[in-house]
This record gives sequence, C-alpha cells and structure tokens, in this order.
Amino acid sequence: MTRTGPQRYPGASTTYWYQDKYGGDAMEVNTVVWHTTEGRSLTDYEGGAIAPNLTAVPDFTHKKLVWYQHFDFDVSSRALAHTGSVATNTLNVVQIEIVGTCDPVAHGKWGSAPHLYTPELPDWVIRDLGAFTKWAHEQHGVPLTSDVTFKAYPASRGPGNGVRMSDAKWLHFSGHCGHQHVPSGNEHGDPGLFPMAAVLAVARGGTVAESLLPEVADRLAHLTESVETLTEKVDALAQRG
Ligand SMILES: [Zn+2]
Repeated sequence: MTRTGPQRYPGASTTYWYQDKYGGDAMEVNTVVWHTTEGRSLTDYEGGAIAPNLTAVPDFTHKKLVWYQHFDFDVSSRALAHTGSVATNTLNVVQIEIVGTCDPVAHGKWGSAPHLYTPELPDWVIRDLGAFTKWAHEQHGVPLTSDVTFKAYPASRGPGNGVRMSDAKWLHFSGHCGHQHVPSGNEHGDPGLFPMAAVLAVARGGTVAESLLPEVADRLAHLTESVETLTEKVDALAQRG
C-alpha cells in the first residue's frame, strides 16, 4: 500500500508543480528531510530537476510561511544525491526546502536584507514549521522524533561531518533529519543548526515560547554564574580599597 492519506498540504500552491514532468516513485513516507535553499527567494530548482516535495517561503510582511508543493507528499522528489549504495530520494522520505541560509557567511553578507538564518529562526517560522510537522504526523504517521544532532554549518559539510548516518541507520530511519544526515553520496551541510527540538515541541502542542524554555533556562543559568563571579570580584576589590 502506498500513497495513503491526503497528498497535498492544505494551502500550498501548486503553481510550480514538477510531478507531471518527472513522475517520481510512489512511497509511504515515514521520514522528513529538511533543507535550506541558501537563497532569499523561491528558486525553480533547475526546472524542477533538483526540486523537493515542498518549499517554505518566508513572508516577512505578514509573518508567515508561504508553501509551494512540487510533488505529492508520498511521491519521491529530487533534492538528495543518490550516488551511493543505498536509496535516498526514493526511501520513503518527504523533502522540505526552507528558503533561507544556514551559512553564517551568507547571513553576514545579506545583512539587513530580510532573510531566514536557521540558527536564529523567528517564532513565526518555528510555529509554521511545527504546524507542518504536526500535519505530517497526524495525516501520515511521521514520528515526532529526531535522534540525530543538527550541527552548525560549515562544520556540517562533507561526507565525514560526524553526524551523517551510516547506510544501515539510514535504511531503518524514521522521523526528522536534515540533508547533513543523509549518506549515500550526500555531502551538503544544510540546514545547519536547525531548531529541531523547538519545531517538534510545537508539533506536540506546545507554544513556541514553551518550546524555547529549556534554552532560556540554560542561558539564565550561565548569566547567574557570570553575575556571581562578577560580584565576588567586586567584593574582593572593595575589600582592597
Ligand atoms: Zn539540501
């Protein structure tokens, strides 16, 4: 049984539909692979030749993601390399490209021009990615789990980045991962330091603020430590005076 459940993400535009041109294999998706386009606007993916299933484009004016669908949910798309020993695009994965960058160099170069940088995604992006993740879970059973580490770019680049799966792990994987985790000839490091835990927390029903709480608590602990150290120094100086 393949292609169970609704095949179009509600609200997604099919203006750039590539399935008629490329076909693709029917699957039963159990994995989401996240990418970044490393650009600031919707690309045509070389006429669809390297297109994902869906693209999420930021609308900075209305603070929401605008979705474009290029292939059905349970049909293979084309954004992964497949030069190794095991299947990639056709291995029951749905692929999502986020229009934005994981590269600190591009982020710096673009400066104040509106763009998404994965280590610093705004709340409304995490909210909308969480909504998609929830839908993929409820309608297609994609687990709300990710047992891989999202590494910051550029350390996430290359075949031996330390977080890429073995062929064996990839063959049995389900849940959420990034391009940086896919083996079999893939060397890209996107989507870098992607806030996977926060996206999954939103998909589980938490608010964005709640999903970021562990990180906030961690930063507060570090701040408290710094303040204590400073207080000790000031006390020592006061005693000398
Ligand atoms: Zn990619």
